Amino acid sequence: MTLAAPRAGRPDLERHVLGAYETARPGPTVVLVGGLHGNEPAGVYAIRAVLAELERRALPLRGRVVGLAGNLGALRRGDRFLDRDLNRMWSATELAPGAPSDASRDAAERAALHALVERALADAREPVVFLDLHSTSADGAPFSIIGDTLQNRRIAFALPVPVILGLEENVEGALLGYFGERGHVAVGFEGGQHDAESTQAHHVAAVWLTLLACGALTRAELPEAAEYHALLRRAARGLPGVVEMRYRHHVEPADEFEMRPGFTNFDAVRAGQVLARDARGEIACPEDGFVLLPLYQGQGQDGFFVGREVRRVWLRLSRVVRAARLDRLAPLLPGIRRVRGERGTLEVDRHVARWWVVEIFHLLGFRRVRPAGGALRFTRRVEGLERSERGA
Ligand SMILES: [Zn+2]
Repeated sequence: MTLAAPRAGRPDLERHVLGAYETARPGPTVVLVGGLHGNEPAGVYAIRAVLAELERRALPLRGRVVGLAGNLGALRRGDRFLDRDLNRMWSATELAPGAPSDASRDAAERAALHALVERALADAREPVVFLDLHSTSADGAPFSIIGDTLQNRRIAFALPVPVILGLEENVEGALLGYFGERGHVAVGFEGGQHDAESTQAHHVAAVWLTLLACGALTRAELPEAAEYHALLRRAARGLPGVVEMRYRHHVEPADEFEMRPGFTNFDAVRAGQVLARDARGEIACPEDGFVLLPLYQGQGQDGFFVGREVRRVWLRLSRVVRAARLDRLAPLLPGIRRVRGERGTLEVDRHVARWWVVEIFHLLGFRRVRPAGGALRFTRRVEGLERSERGA
């Protein structure tokens, strides 16, 4: 499979900083990231366009906007990455002091980017909002991706596109996972197909609506907000509101993975339906749902995802349950114990607690983490306000 050259051209950038904008007014820090994947240049162009427009109109922004480009070397070549996927290299283990060094060219990109983000965080006021702009190899409507915290919901629900929950439970080492775990607001936005002309317009709309949703701008200051809202709503018409990511098909280069042609994001799929094939044979869909991010490019380890619509009543209930901090009662339930030395982490004995375990923990605001032996582990997602309480 060949990698098509992006229609928008390949950004040839010397540095990761695309620009910054602030007035003297206090407010949130918004970190915009584009081109973490080098074959997704639309986000880079969108960030530049918004920064230029902020300057041109001298808009009275509260807080600060910082625009960053991700994988400069890969953007220059129009490839997803050089040696390693830059959006799978942000696990806390890998970034811990004393972790084994990594000679990949992408690790050098990460180091530069990491330093810039930390600098932006060092003099940031609350809240800090990350918006990470991506695009997909398959056709399809725009959508957002969040870890399911109430503060992430607030921003993502302001963008009238489907919201995908639980990606960080399925994908290790994403930039948003790392900064989200530290209590920041972290929203990923997929603007559409890599080379579609509409993708950049979707990104631009998402950036402006995010600035509005976090209070950096008001509706009076941004009268065209209604048009951006209408643009995204039109693009996502008829799609589910919220989808929980349930399954990820992992791909290794030796698999010779090949997606069946013709799938677009949010296509309905059935259990048993053949979605792809690889060196071992046909790959069937594990359950009914929607197919997401089907892989139609040469690089990448995510073959496809399958998600399921989340009902509104669950969303409302989970908000109430979390606001009441019912998670504190969880360790009182049979088969559930705290993990010593790991704050906010609980271990579940599946012989005792058998039914609806993942669902109940999601409701309480936990995310699933690596299984420890036969047991399941969950850690509570951090909402920004509690950061001082955690001392992180
Ligand atoms: Zn991407």
